[in-house]
Amino acid sequence: MTQDPARQSELKKMELCESCAGIQRNWRRAPGHAELVQRGNRKEERDHGTVTITRYQCDRCGTAWEYENDKTDQRAGWSVVGR
Ligand SMILES: [Zn+2]
Repeated sequence: MTQDPARQSELKKMELCESCAGIQRNWRRAPGHAELVQRGNRKEERDHGTVTITRYQCDRCGTAWEYENDKTDQRAGWSVVGR
């Protein structure tokens, strides 16, 4: 892992597999896809309390995803966090 991280993250965006490319980001309760493997979860503090963020990795293209479960935020949901 000696490559430039900024360059790496640019490449990542282009390397999403079809299934990952189909995930609707930042939208509450949008579904993931069958090849995502759960990697663990953590709690984070928000203004209104604690939310759970679950991390996944795609078995097919290796993209790392996080899903934020926040009942009060329609815009919380899937985001790409790297690889
Ligand atoms: Zn994928």
